[in-house]
Amino acid sequence: MACNSSNQELQAQDQKINNFLQNVNHKIIVMSGKGGVGKSTVATNLAVFLSNQGYKVGLLDVDVHGPSVAGLLGLTGLRINTIGDQFQPYHYSDNLKVISIQGLLDQPDDPLIWRGPVKIGIIRQFLADVNWGPLDFLIIDSPPGTGDEPLTVAQTVTGCQAVIVTTPQEIALADVRKSIQFCQKVNLPVLGIIENMSGFVCPSCGNMHAIFKSGGGEKTAANYNLTFLGQLPIDPSVVTAGDAGQSIDTLSSQTKEKMQHIVEQLLQKLPNKQKGVDKTMKIAIPVVQGKLCIHFGHCEQFAIITVADGKIVKQETLTPPPHERTSHFTTAWRKSFLRCPLRHT
Ligand code: ADP
Repeated sequence: MACNSSNQELQAQDQKINNFLQNVNHKIIVMSGKGGVGKSTVATNLAVFLSNQGYKVGLLDVDVHGPSVAGLLGLTGLRINTIGDQFQPYHYSDNLKVISIQGLLDQPDDPLIWRGPVKIGIIRQFLADVNWGPLDFLIIDSPPGTGDEPLTVAQTVTGCQAVIVTTPQEIALADVRKSIQFCQKVNLPVLGIIENMSGFVCPSCGNMHAIFKSGGGEKTAANYNLTFLGQLPIDPSVVTAGDAGQSIDTLSSQTKEKMQHIVEQLLQKLPNKQKGVDKTMKIAIPVVQGKLCIHFGHCEQFAIITVADGKIVKQETLTPPPHERTSHFTTAWRKSFLRCPLRHT
């Protein structure tokens, strides 16, 4: 959709975005104050760990100028396909779907030279026009700082919460404080802070060296009364896994354990942690002589439409029991068919 879209088009797009977001339990934007602190690595690992635990996860890379998610997952040739008017996410696994700006580039190394309104437009399209299906988690990897992309996410993704990644040294923490205040200003709740590159255990001497210092992320979390989700060490296996696009497969056991701890801390912060969102909806449409009836309780019949993964899989017509004065429908009828339209069954 062009950046000069009409109000009507924007409203229609808002509606599509809301429809999608209603089918996502948890929306998390992964932010950082500075580039290079490991934000994309953490966002990607969060998505892979959660999906490996049985959660349905969508990973959306909106880091327009430095999309890394595709590379980190080994999807270097990723292209975004469309079916009809919908973008198709890449199915990395049964539980993990991925969309990255990278998939729009003709050549992987092409730069995107876009101004704010175009960036805002494409992020909204990735929320409105992607065939995500229902998700337990939408993890959004945004560029560092407090620019157009995190602002668009904060203003568009209702119910979104932030995870902030930092390294321990003061120069990174100074920018994290800006990120925290950005979140406060745009009413984006912060789920917690992760301290990445926190110490290096020397393989020769076995001693821990705090190359970028250690503990700064935890102190910052305490200063702002935020949850500290955990630390990840400087670990060459993270670089090797990232460069090879092998995600977590080749991570050291130490980093895997620490990452698992972070995921557990995160899950503790969230209500409704049930896995595997129900993908099926039943929608009851009141009809009279095959046409929409405006009286839900007085119609001749109900057209019951079953929708799974965004597609109609079954249509049936059911005749309600005769209308009664005191109770519109018997309890059995209510239980079997009258689920609220657009609510998960
Ligand atoms: P950002 O998204 O913040 O710009 P990236 O996730 O792209 O940062 O990471 C930048 C580089 O740092 C990558 O080469 C990545 O492999 C590496 N890296 C990230 N976390 C670690 C870590 N804990 N130990 C070692 N290298 C790391």
